[in-house]
Amino acid sequence: MMEFTPHSVPKNTGWIEVIAGCMFSGKTEELIRRLRRAKIAKQNVKIFKPKIDTRYSDKKIVSHNEQVLPSILIEDINEITELSKDAQVIGIDEAQFFSNDIIKICNLLADNGKRVIVAGLDQDYRGIPFEPMPQLLSIAEYITKTLAICVECGNPADKTQRKTVSSKRVIVGASDIYEARCRKCHYLPEEK
Ligand code: ZN
Repeated sequence: MMEFTPHSVPKNTGWIEVIAGCMFSGKTEELIRRLRRAKIAKQNVKIFKPKIDTRYSDKKIVSHNEQVLPSILIEDINEITELSKDAQVIGIDEAQFFSNDIIKICNLLADNGKRVIVAGLDQDYRGIPFEPMPQLLSIAEYITKTLAICVECGNPADKTQRKTVSSKRVIVGASDIYEARCRKCHYLPEEK
């Protein structure tokens, strides 16, 4: 996990951190951990997530192990600019559900001196890079790839296995529909 040592914290500038991985890899937990530490340091923290993710809770950011922080639901990533004016640290969860405008917005926020921490799925259920995550990974100063554990063989896993057949890219769900798999054990649902 990325961790700043006191002498390496950037001064008088903003920056972008990206936490990328498959489902059940602890992305949201890691995002919450960083945001909570900033809050403890009395920094002004704002957390945003897309309206689409109504998995467990409407108004909060919730990881699979049920850690909770209050968050602001937005439909359009452009809403962040106005809503985060007084924030020093900005967290964005489920970034894969936002439009590519998020690239411009994150750069703008970081250029304005804010610490921007973005978490999201880096691949869809087929293992195809999930935009805008690839672009966010390239503009970030700090990148963390979280790995899960393959449900089949116990190897480190970076793929999200969909257990139902559907060609829709997004089906909101948790362990009822998805599980973590390694490269060797991952398959396309339509192939079985
Ligand atoms: Zn495996």
